[in-house]
Amino acid sequence: MNLKDQGDDALKELLVSWKQPAFRARQLKEWLYGKFAVSYEEMTNLPAALKQKLSESVRPFSLETCQRLMDEADGTVKWLSALEDGNTIETVLIRVPGRTTVCISTQVGCPVRCVFCASGRNGLVRNLTKGEIIDQVILACRELQARVDNIVVMGMGEPLLNLDSLQLALDEIAREDTLAFGARHVTISTSGIVPGIRRLAEMGRAWNLAFSLHAVNDEMRSQIVPPAVRFPLEEIFAACEYHRKLTGRMLTLEYALINGKNDSRETMDRLVEIAHRLHAKVNLIPCNPNASRLTAPTMRRCYEAVDYLVSRDVQATLRHSHGQGILAACGQLRQAHPVVEAASQKGKPQVF
Ligand code: SAH
Ligand code: SF4
Repeated sequence: MNLKDQGDDALKELLVSWKQPAFRARQLKEWLYGKFAVSYEEMTNLPAALKQKLSESVRPFSLETCQRLMDEADGTVKWLSALEDGNTIETVLIRVPGRTTVCISTQVGCPVRCVFCASGRNGLVRNLTKGEIIDQVILACRELQARVDNIVVMGMGEPLLNLDSLQLALDEIAREDTLAFGARHVTISTSGIVPGIRRLAEMGRAWNLAFSLHAVNDEMRSQIVPPAVRFPLEEIFAACEYHRKLTGRMLTLEYALINGKNDSRETMDRLVEIAHRLHAKVNLIPCNPNASRLTAPTMRRCYEAVDYLVSRDVQATLRHSHGQGILAACGQLRQAHPVVEAASQKGKPQVF
């Protein structure tokens, strides 16, 4: 059990039951969110007896680092972390001059199983909890010793199939007494879960939405996204328009460029039409070949594709592959270590 899975009331009740003064809850939160603490030992202004009681009852942090890789070339850091049950997840910190971004996971595995994606290779194992989602942000902040600037929900899993926990996590870190994280600095990427996009729109938060399009018609898309969790493009487009109408946020279309499959001139023309219709910007991603036989076009052709979109008045960018040297694309590291023995985290009593 993780402290961050609990609401403030449960924490206060616990502290009251231990006859602690009310300000202890605030002190604890200052450590957890203000100083990115991951252990009670660090919390020097708490009495030793309280720290002992807490450590016997509830964990302050849910991730145990199995591997931490840094790409010396660009400063990207990637973690493979074990959860309490031994499952593993990935988190990536990306640094570009003037901006830091953490890419977080929302599920162990993914039920959507897109053909080029390592995260979906073995389907869904389980949803992450609110605390497990928040702790990935804390992990990145701790590395930086500062609050990270942006969050992209583009790691392992389909965020809109775990929207309850994601909403709790994002709302928690938006609060003034935690990270005061502005919604505009959060981007949620989805493979196109229509009910999820509509629910997200109705939540009324200014989170940015990215839709992983990858194809310009349903037939082409069926070769990339398997049918189990795939919605028709027209329904997805309508949901995206609804999202823009209710939130005013500009949509991003993510498009993995796959050599010979979705990169022809005619396909790019259709992509231009879709981007115009949805008032969306386009983020082209050279398909990372590590998870399948699919490969990206040459870099020259990728740049030509961006230039072509831009010449047709589409706001388009080519996503740089950060952390090339450390398997930074989603789910690749976990393929090597799907489950680890998280022995030190087992057998803790639960008081909530
Ligand atoms: N499940 C969500 C968010 C996580 S995936 C989604 O699909 O949008 C984040 C992005 O990485 C998606 O656009 C996804 O299609 C892309 N992606 C995954 N594996 C990839 C690969 N091997 N090459 C290029 N892009 C990939
Ligand atoms: Fe899941 Fe996204 Fe990977 Fe598709 S690309 S399998 S939706 S994580």
